[in-house]
Amino acid sequence: MSANVITFHYVLKDREGQLIDSSQGGDPVAYLEGSGQIIEGLEEALRDSAPGQKTEVDVPAEKAYGERDDTLVRRVSRTQLPVDEINVGDRFQTGADRHAPIVTVIGVEGDSVLLDANHPLAGVDLHFEVDVVDVREATPDEIHHGHAHGPGGHHH
Ligand code: ZN
Repeated sequence: MSANVITFHYVLKDREGQLIDSSQGGDPVAYLEGSGQIIEGLEEALRDSAPGQKTEVDVPAEKAYGERDDTLVRRVSRTQLPVDEINVGDRFQTGADRHAPIVTVIGVEGDSVLLDANHPLAGVDLHFEVDVVDVREATPDEIHHGHAHGPGGHHH
């Protein structure tokens, strides 16, 4: 099996043109094709791309971070949270593991707090401007590990 590692810079906006995130000024992202490292809609758009290629791609929410799920919103008591001061927009990790889900405070009502476990970009249609920096064949190690190595990729 062979696969490519594609390295790219991106600017991410929502459908209204509001800037959400960008890799400009930092390391580009390196990803192993077919590894599920990046969202499905972006992977589809970058397939067979070449160095120097610039692409703009609209990714609907269902091919990005999914639709919002209202059952992921729950009400907890303020005392269950690890801090004294709680504001709308604050984010907490729900466990010690660094991959534990992150919840966002969407409401504070007296002693109770509304927590939303949806991904912050769930339900958001995305617009990417992508600048392909490099395309190379993945090493056997990368294919074995299921991720890209080196700048923008995984460091062990
Ligand atoms: Zn690795």
